[in-house]
Amino acid sequence: MRLAELTSPQVEKLVDPIALWPVGAVEPHGPHAPLGTDTLISVGMCERAAGRLDSAVVLPPLPFGVTRYGAAFAGAIGISEATLRAVVLDVATALDRHGFRRLVIVNNHFEPEQVATLRSAAAEAGALYLDLVRRRNAQRLTDEFRRGSCHAGRYETSLMLADAPQLVDPEVASLPSNEVDMPAAMAAGRTDFVAMGMDRAYCGAPAEATAEEGRATFETLTDILVELVKAQA
Ligand SMILES: [Zn+2]
Repeated sequence: MRLAELTSPQVEKLVDPIALWPVGAVEPHGPHAPLGTDTLISVGMCERAAGRLDSAVVLPPLPFGVTRYGAAFAGAIGISEATLRAVVLDVATALDRHGFRRLVIVNNHFEPEQVATLRSAAAEAGALYLDLVRRRNAQRLTDEFRRGSCHAGRYETSLMLADAPQLVDPEVASLPSNEVDMPAAMAAGRTDFVAMGMDRAYCGAPAEATAEEGRATFETLTDILVELVKAQA
């Protein structure tokens, strides 16, 4: 159930609907994965979850996020914190007016300013924010994700191989692994991929990615989302 594919009378008939909103970014994901990787992961989660929930619809994804780390690479398009906050509040207001029970924001772009903006805007709007980097959620995900060396690495590339293999360049097989502790690099004040040691805009081990791992991770991500909605929405 994608909201944008429904007619207005169809939406009117929904009983106490919940809106799942996929959020991502347009930023470099190595030489092998698409700029919209984070958005595609969020869409994959929301569509799977909508199939397991009553009266849940998937909003058109918000493709742009606060992204500065990758700004030097071709194709990166970021928006400011103020713009992101304004979009979240406006969309939440519109859903409220139409009787949606709850907005659930599903984000897979983890630059700290993006996460902080979404957390506070969600709180302000009375929306739920699925916080995947919180320990209780992160500990259910793969080893690479938990280590924080996971930008366009095995974790994200596996998810792409599961849902959009045609968008992953076969060159991925020859990419050396690149272990970078992103949280530590950020804490040390490094604010772009190259300074973090990611001169090709990836870290982790993309060559180890498999569609099978991606499907398993999507199942876990969907479980986490469905549990949040059932408990709090
Ligand atoms: Zn990503």
